[in-house]
Amino acid sequence: MLGVRVSPDPFKMSDRVIQNLNTYATMAFPKALEIDRTKKHISLILDKKGNVLSIGCNTFRTHPEAAKIGYRYNEVHSELDAFLRLDRNVRNAKDLILLNYRFNRFGDFRSSRPCVKCMPWCSAIFKTIIYTTNNGYEIFSGDEKKIESMNLPIDKLNMRSIIRANGKATTRSI
Ligand SMILES: [Zn+2]
Repeated sequence: MLGVRVSPDPFKMSDRVIQNLNTYATMAFPKALEIDRTKKHISLILDKKGNVLSIGCNTFRTHPEAAKIGYRYNEVHSELDAFLRLDRNVRNAKDLILLNYRFNRFGDFRSSRPCVKCMPWCSAIFKTIIYTTNNGYEIFSGDEKKIESMNLPIDKLNMRSIIRANGKATTRSI
């Protein structure tokens, strides 16, 4: 076969997750609307099959772990909130996927790349980190220290359009 892949394709690693990003977005959006602050961050932790194991948001609550990481005001970021909600038995699982969302008040995608405090511990724990950008998603695969961009058509970048296309927002597991 012609053409040699330099490294494994991260899209392949989590195909099921990639195919269901719209569905995860419709789960994340109503949760984001519940957050009573301007920047609304949602983190989902998935297993390799794409099952949602926990959902976290950025809250005003503080936690000793947040202090350890060095978050400003010791506030829990969505990534840590999701991780603290994760069943202790699966915290050491090898194939965990972090999926971050942020939307503006109109429902448009906004960048939710983990901040400089989150990225080090998240890339140590999660095999793959997927986060929204203003144009779609970026997929960070820790194994290869590689980021792939996935740009979406404009109607897939606004939650109103997505929900209109997919039917009602849902929180059921996939
Ligand atoms: Zn952070």
